Order: sequence, then structure tokens, then C-alpha cells
Amino acid sequence: MKERKLTLDKIRNIGIIAHIDAGKTTTTERILYYTGSKHKIGSVDDGTAEMDWMEQEKERGITITSAATTAFWKDHRINIIDTPGHVDFTVEVERALRVLDGAVAVFDAQVGVEPQSETVWRQADKYSVPRIAFMNKMDKIGANFFNAVQTMIDKLGANPVPIVIPIGAEADFKGVVNLIEMKAYLWNSDDGMDFEITDIPEDLKEIAEEKREDLIAAAAEFDEELMELYIGEEEISNAQLKSAIRKGTLDNNLIPVYCGSAFKNKAVQPVLDAIIDFLPSPLDMPPVKAFDEQTGEFIKEIEPTKNEDFLALAFKIMVDPYVGKLTFMRVYSGSLEKGSYVLNTTKGKKERISRLMFMHSDKREEVDYVRAGDIVGVVGLKDTATGDTLASENSDLILEKLEFPEPVISVS
Ligand code: GDP
Repeated sequence: MKERKLTLDKIRNIGIIAHIDAGKTTTTERILYYTGSKHKIGSVDDGTAEMDWMEQEKERGITITSAATTAFWKDHRINIIDTPGHVDFTVEVERALRVLDGAVAVFDAQVGVEPQSETVWRQADKYSVPRIAFMNKMDKIGANFFNAVQTMIDKLGANPVPIVIPIGAEADFKGVVNLIEMKAYLWNSDDGMDFEITDIPEDLKEIAEEKREDLIAAAAEFDEELMELYIGEEEISNAQLKSAIRKGTLDNNLIPVYCGSAFKNKAVQPVLDAIIDFLPSPLDMPPVKAFDEQTGEFIKEIEPTKNEDFLALAFKIMVDPYVGKLTFMRVYSGSLEKGSYVLNTTKGKKERISRLMFMHSDKREEVDYVRAGDIVGVVGLKDTATGDTLASENSDLILEKLEFPEPVISVS
């Protein structure tokens, strides 16, 4: 079996979670458009077919129809798992949250936290999903970044820490100051491609200094070394600061906050960097529990390594216009080649894996094998339903079953 170049630490399985209308679709589309234009499949990962992206005009019409869509950013593979935004799909949201490692929570910067964002937030809390927040719609009348951040404290009890501050607001929204780099990101064109990184505008220098101080103080809570430097008023490197922010985020005790306007294309690059810098890879995740398929008794914890037996969870089934029934699964351990057989331990049925594919916004990328950490679409499964465990043929393990969720009551 050919080794993949892309190691597990370079994978991010994330969801974009939001109150309906906050801009989840627009933000996702901008991410796919931007990453798609910057990358050709095949150049990062081995064992994949080289395919061309559609011409730019067609890319503009990107829609996310897949349960998991793959994008590349700075030599990382980002799998974006679709999470339904409507409260009626609570069970589906929970299922999606189980298979992802981190999330971007999108809010409307004019209203901040809304009742439905509370519901998804509490579901993400339940599964300890590390999150970053994105205050979208900074171009909208009434948009107010710091008020919106405050609603995360008041309504969610979260610990939001701005990593950027906006330059302008409403019709004058121009970009952001990044408080780690202490640089301004200014967008010059409507397609989001043309932006420059410049010095901080004079009138924002003071507040940027003040907010950077707050950021360091918040991050230092999670890193003793940083705390000592901070107290001793010594120089702090960007790498040290980022590492402390990452610790707090993975601990589920700090939420890095960004802002922008997905609609006006002033948004995406800093958020993509944040996904890479702060959200976990499959290696950062706690082991998954496996149970006996007969008795339901706990058997062992599953480490995300390809040396263990194959174990995966089917989390979504879709009908694809080209390949028919497509079952999306998250692989928790081991690896699997196309053409091989697996046991659906939930149903006690043997199934054949005919084809394996990563879905991009506009292409299918066929692969010969998948391994722990991957999220992939499978062709060929006949009897597998969502929530079923797929395992190696001699296995008698099932993964944690999805409990029927308790109703989430939102308090405002
Ligand atoms: P979703 O329901 O969360 O997926 O939200 P959509 O992405 O469909 O966006 C909902 C509405 O908000 C649409 O009319 C979008 O055009 C609009 N919208 C999305 N992003 C922005 C933004 O950055 N600024 C403004 N003003 N409107 C936006």
C-alpha cells in the first residue's frame, strides 16, 4: 500500500455551525471558492488522480451538496462536514458533531448570539468540540463586533477572545487587524482574492495594542511559560502566543474570535489560518470508545492509528447523481483498501467497498485506500444505515451508539 504524504496532523475534520441565516452557506462557499482557486488536487496527497478545477465562472456557482466536502489550505486537508442549521434536525446535528473534531461557529455580527445558535452551541459543548467563532456580516447596518462578542459571554457563558478586530464597520468595513501578527488585512476587490497585508492604520493602533494585551493575558492562562513572560513583561513570539491559544481552544476553555463579511468576500483567509492553527487534528482527539456488539459492554478505547483493526462509523447516506448511493463514514482506526470487505457489526452483515472517494465542491477524488482520521464517501454498501459501525471482518466491536438526545432548552 502506498504511503500518503499527508500525515494525520495535517488533517482537519471540521463543521461550520450556525443559526439559520447567519451565513453558514455563504461562508462555506467562500472557503471552497478561495481554497479551490489556490489549489489543484493531487499536489498535496499521493494516490489521488490529478484533476482540473472548473473554470472560474463555474466555480462562482459552487454549492455544497455533499455531507463532507474536502478543501486544501497550506498543505492541510480540511474536510468540512455539513451540519444542518435548522433546529428540527437536532439528531442530525448531533450525529455530525460526533464525527468532526472542531467547528467554526458563524454568528451575525449585528445580532450576535441568537436562540438557535445557543442550541447548536450546547450540542457542541456536549461533545466537547473545540471551536472558533466567526462574526459574519460586518458590512451590515448595525454590525457591532464587540457587542456581538459580548453576547457570547452573556448568553453562552463562553470565553471568547478576539484574534482580530475590525477595520471599519457597515458600508465602511474594510478588513481586520490581526492581533497576533499586528498587521492589517485589507481587501481591495469583491472576489476576495486581492488583499494586502499592511501596517495597522494609525487610528487603530492604540486599541489594537490594548486588545493584544487582553489576548496575551487570556492565552497565558493556558501556558505557564507564556504567563511568566507576560508577568515579566518580556518579549513574546507569535509562535508562543499561537501555541497557548491552541491549548486553550483544544481544552474547550477559549474561543478565538474572528470577523468579516462572507458576502463581500472579506473574510476567509484569516479563518482558514485559524482552522489550521487552532483546531485539532484527529491526533489531538481523545480515543473513541468501542463496545461489544452483543452485550453493549465497553471493550476498549480506539486510538487513531492505522496499525489497529479497521473501525469506522457511517454517519450520512446520500444519493449522488453519478455514483448512486454514497455512504459517508469517519474512520477511527486502521485502514481500508477499495475492493475489500468489511463487516457491518451493527447489522451483522458483510459488505463490499467498491469505491472510495473524497468529495470536493466540484469534483470527486477517487482514492485506493483510507485510514484513521479520514472522512470519506463509500460506494457499494447495500445494507448500511447511518449510525452503523463498519469494522474488519473478524471484529465484534461497535462504536458508541447515538443516544436519543435530550431536548435542549435555550435560556436567553
Ligand atoms: P445560512 O442559512 O446560515 O446558510 O446563511 P446564508 O449563507 O444562506 O446567508 C443568509 C443570508 O444572509 C443570505 O441572504 C446571504 O446573502 C446573507 N449574507 C451572508 N453573508 C453575509 C454578509 O457577510 N453580509 C451580509 N450583509 N449578508 C450576508
